Amino acid sequence: MSGCRLVHTAAAIDSPGGILVPTMGALHDGHASLVRQAATLRDDDVAAGRPRRAVIVSVFVNRTQFNDPADFARYPKTLEADLLICQAAGADCVYAPDQEDVYPPGQVVAVPPLPAAATDPALEDALRPGHFAGVCQVVHRLFELVQPSAAIFGEKDWQQLTVLAAMTLQQNLPIVIIPGHTIREPDGLAMSSRNRFLLPLERATAPVVFKALAAAGTQATVAGAEAKMHALLTAAGLTVQYAVVRDASSLLAIQTGQPARALIACKLGSIRLIDNAPWPLMP
Ligand code: AMP
Repeated sequence: MSGCRLVHTAAAIDSPGGILVPTMGALHDGHASLVRQAATLRDDDVAAGRPRRAVIVSVFVNRTQFNDPADFARYPKTLEADLLICQAAGADCVYAPDQEDVYPPGQVVAVPPLPAAATDPALEDALRPGHFAGVCQVVHRLFELVQPSAAIFGEKDWQQLTVLAAMTLQQNLPIVIIPGHTIREPDGLAMSSRNRFLLPLERATAPVVFKALAAAGTQATVAGAEAKMHALLTAAGLTVQYAVVRDASSLLAIQTGQPARALIACKLGSIRLIDNAPWPLMP
């Protein structure tokens, strides 16, 4: 694999389809928790006498999923620090391909047909046109290059997780999609590579997003929950892009008896924050 930086040489060789953790780098403890989760799966397999699967972390900032060129240009790149985090979290291999490895000049890298979750909810799909086409394109391509048996994606990007699970099913790929819990700062702010761009006052305000999700979780109705989120976010000076309660898998209107999710996207200064939580929240 060109671009593969081996952390534990022997372990990554001759293993069956590995457990892939796709990232764009600038790793934080949220990413590390996904790698630890993959390492636990690997170690459980070994303890149960099943073949050892390598834990592979991909680090690739994918231009095609950025709808804002300035956001792509300033995306943080910290590969040497990322390697240390991956090693400490139990990765066998870090795959950091070049642009040409993923998108070879002269070769068309197909965008798979987009599942409904990528086009119909009018959430990230509406706010970031072309984003999920880029995400599906790069993940499908990484699956082709790495040939994993499983891949872990964070619940932090809930719509992305549902889109990729649906794409994998739709394409009939032999890959298990595994969700990973959102890791938060002690004050509730979901960890994100972009948090480093928050100004001190913005950083102090940002936990209101998690507080709004928690407050929504105790409301008895969808309308009450959505109104509560809007009120708290607006009062704190954030610009709300959406603050909704939706069916957890279709991301359309909730269905009686089906799991639901509260989802927020908002802007704090120039920084976009997204987060989500189950709805209602269990006491
Ligand atoms: P990114 O590098 O932002 O593309 O994220 C790579 C993976 O890490 C995605 O599956 C994200 O959903 C996941 N992720 C990002 N932030 C967190 C977090 N705070 N906790 C857990 N997973 C996360």
